[in-house]
Amino acid sequence: MAPRRKKIYEGKAKILYEGPEPGTLVQYFKDDATAFNAQKKATIEGKGVLNNRLSEFFMTGLANIGVPTHFIRRLNMREQLIRQVEIVPLEVIVRNFAAGSIAKRLGLEEGTPLPRPIVEYSYKNDALGDPMVSEEYIIAFGWANQQDLDDIVALALRVNDFLSGVFYGVGIKLIDFKIEIGRIWDGDFTRLIVADEISPDSCRLWDVKTGQKLDKDVFRRDLGSLTDAYSEVARRLGVLPANATNIKPTLIN
Ligand code: UDP
Repeated sequence: MAPRRKKIYEGKAKILYEGPEPGTLVQYFKDDATAFNAQKKATIEGKGVLNNRLSEFFMTGLANIGVPTHFIRRLNMREQLIRQVEIVPLEVIVRNFAAGSIAKRLGLEEGTPLPRPIVEYSYKNDALGDPMVSEEYIIAFGWANQQDLDDIVALALRVNDFLSGVFYGVGIKLIDFKIEIGRIWDGDFTRLIVADEISPDSCRLWDVKTGQKLDKDVFRRDLGSLTDAYSEVARRLGVLPANATNIKPTLIN
């Protein structure tokens, strides 16, 4: 049941409610899945619970290596307390191997290793289908300045190194991922931190040995059960007990 709180914003996969203190919000993870700019939709039981736990796991790990994030603490199965930020209207994508739009655009076979991690940006605008934009666009339209972009690239690459290592340790290849960046005000200065979520909804994750997809492509491309794929990721990372067959058995606290 949804809590009785003031709703601040509702997106495709999450709802933001007013937080208990100024400068905080409650982020609620829904079971809704969308793909292809919301042309394909479904409700997938358990996805919200898994993504809440997985995002907590990654954000906490990032904080432990000194990467600032919006995450404060998990409140319950579907909700976490986060810092209120001003979202930079960009999807920051980091790619290690070709897949999805870059594979299509450049005619690369999916899985081709890239010469180095590539950072790219989309302008967050559903009506326009999140078009890819250049640094020139971002600066010209004032979505971020050059200093912000330097900070964003540094953050994105640190997140990439951290996630690549964590996933590789459990036999998963991090093909690519998307993060969102939040701006917080510190007097007259602003600081950029990792915001939104980090979960299999926004990563491409392939099993190292078999190449099996363990991310939202399972839903996009009708490859099987999304909950099974996300549960497998959660089990390998120790977020779900190793013997759990699905998310219903008690999650590790
Ligand atoms: N991505 C995302 N949200 C979006 C677009 C992309 O989380 O609105 C993630 C996607 O899951 C993948 C990475 O960003 O891990 C790169 O996506 P790509 O540009 O290849 O687009 P797609 O093929 O997913 O449309």
